[in-house]
Amino acid sequence: MLLYVRDVNLRQKLESMLPSQGMLNGVDELRYLFITSGVELLEDPAALTGLQHSLQSETLGVGVVKADGEKCDRCWNYSTHVGEDPEHPIICDRCVAALAGKF
Ligand SMILES: [Zn+2]
Repeated sequence: MLLYVRDVNLRQKLESMLPSQGMLNGVDELRYLFITSGVELLEDPAALTGLQHSLQSETLGVGVVKADGEKCDRCWNYSTHVGEDPEHPIICDRCVAALAGKF
C-alpha cells in the first residue's frame, strides 16, 4: 500500500510506525494498522498517478500495489522473509517469532 499524507505532523507520526524507524516489536507497525502486507509513505503524491487502484484527495492519497515476497501460510501477509527459517519454510519471520512465544 502506498500512502501520501499532506499534513507533515501526521506523516511524521506515521513514519515512526515504520519498521525502518526502529518499530520492531512486531505489533505496532503501520502495516498492521491498515491490515496489509506493507505500507510505503510517500513524500509526493505523484507516485500514485497511473496506478490501477488509487484514490486521492487534497490531503490524502492511497494506492494499492502488489507486495514483494511470498505469501505466509500462517498469516497470509506477503513477506520477503518467508522461508528464511529452515524449521518453518512456509511462514514469515513474524510468525516464526509468534510460534516461539516471543510476543
Ligand atoms: Zn506470517
